[in-house]
Amino acid sequence: MINDAHVHVGPSAPWVPEVDPAKTIEDYIKVMEKYGIHKAIIFPNPGVGEGYAKQNDVIAQAQKSYPSRIIGFGRTDPRLGEGAIKEVQRFINKLGLKGIKLHPVVECFRPDHPAFDPFFKAIEDLRIPILFHSSPGFFAEPHLIALVAERHPKLRVCLGHLYGSMLPVIEKHKNIWVETSGVSLPATVSAAVRIAPDRVMYGSDWPYLNPRVELVKVEEGVENKKDLNRVLSENFESFIRGP
Ligand SMILES: [Zn+2]
Repeated sequence: MINDAHVHVGPSAPWVPEVDPAKTIEDYIKVMEKYGIHKAIIFPNPGVGEGYAKQNDVIAQAQKSYPSRIIGFGRTDPRLGEGAIKEVQRFINKLGLKGIKLHPVVECFRPDHPAFDPFFKAIEDLRIPILFHSSPGFFAEPHLIALVAERHPKLRVCLGHLYGSMLPVIEKHKNIWVETSGVSLPATVSAAVRIAPDRVMYGSDWPYLNPRVELVKVEEGVENKKDLNRVLSENFESFIRGP
């Protein structure tokens, strides 16, 4: 069984020019059929400030249409302060979404800035998982996101786009998961699984990346069947529900 921890659906602000990321849930369900994907975490494409609310509504509708296969996460801009906390409470408590996706580059915020502590405290209180975009470069570096996980030990945090600098971070912080979309080397997946077999998840980052190409890197990196099943399926469930 294959579960995908990183998928974008719905309208988008201008973003990567070579991809039209604005896809419907019906477009994505066809992708699930094509690649044999059983369940997926979906969330909005990049947005602008308060515009995320409408994109979160689209995700909630998708989750409602396919409740056994689609787990919806919302997005917001943490710089909205109290407004960001209210939007998270709205999309969790009113819309029934299951978690939050944050992108420190798109939303231009440094995760460890003390100004965002009330925001992360509110997420911790809601007991929902966070999936962070992570990449080399100052705002999205794994060690900055790790400071959030350290200050809020009840949070379940996933670093998106596994790469080498995440390995010491998942070794140290037991409340940090990783997701494999965009990983360069199958060997990096192998190393992550050796360190944290219960906290590595397959992700595709569709429609930006291809689910099959991303899957091959995981299959080549994880030879043991039990571990492969964890990465493709079980760890996804524990990330959403808590271990
Ligand atoms: Zn993405």
